[in-house]
Amino acid sequence: MKSLNSGESKYSMKIGYPNHPRKDLLEEIEWIGKNGFDFVDLFLEEDLAAPHMVDIKATKKLLKKYNLSTVGHTPWYLPTGSPSKTIRDAAVTEANKCFEVFTQLNVKFVTIHSNWPPKLFSLKEGIKFQVETLRKIVRNAKAFDISIVYEPIDSPYDNVKNIAEILDSVPDLYLHIDIGHANLSGRNPEEFIKKLHKRLKHIHLHDNDGNRDLHLPIGAGKINWGRLIRVLKKYYDGTITLEIFSQDRDFVLLSKEKLKTLWGNY
Ligand SMILES: [Zn+2]
Repeated sequence: MKSLNSGESKYSMKIGYPNHPRKDLLEEIEWIGKNGFDFVDLFLEEDLAAPHMVDIKATKKLLKKYNLSTVGHTPWYLPTGSPSKTIRDAAVTEANKCFEVFTQLNVKFVTIHSNWPPKLFSLKEGIKFQVETLRKIVRNAKAFDISIVYEPIDSPYDNVKNIAEILDSVPDLYLHIDIGHANLSGRNPEEFIKKLHKRLKHIHLHDNDGNRDLHLPIGAGKINWGRLIRVLKKYYDGTITLEIFSQDRDFVLLSKEKLKTLWGNY
């Protein structure tokens, strides 16, 4: 049995931070490593962190230096739900470019955002377009030994019912709950956790006022974090990315300490 005094943690929850894709990737990883995070949530987006910009050798070396693991994130703007098949296929091609980089960095879980067609198209069509694209992406990822986690965004369509329908239609697709997104459009993040936790493999965490997707530090918005973490801990003990976009990153570090305390307390 592990002693509580041994310095080893009694839980396996890991805390990560994403690179800003418009900043130098290696400098971003350096900051994440120096500040004691467990992993990098690697956003392979234009422009400085696009797949063709990644120096694999230097990135690997830096990740090793700080003992950082990596989860992957495809660009949030991939048009998987576009009404145009040509554009949906372009999303599949772009995702493949990301997988080629992720596999070299030994990444096993990669996020893809939900994406909905313009309002002229029905909800049913939006689900159909995404399911068709996601099936292809999940199949391609398997060839790289990568699993896909699906992240609902802040749109009114991203409710538990619609997300459950998409997960049911793409059997090997896992779920990524972004707590901030799940707090918007009158939704409740606890409902996502309670109803969909069986497929849950990754978490993004940030605060907001319930109306705008603000990506605030923990406690700067209206989410009841004590309650939320208590519910999350009941069902989940894995990777959590602090997706906080404050200009001053001291707020990110403060949120990291708060999360550790909250997780330890419940
Ligand atoms: Zn997110």
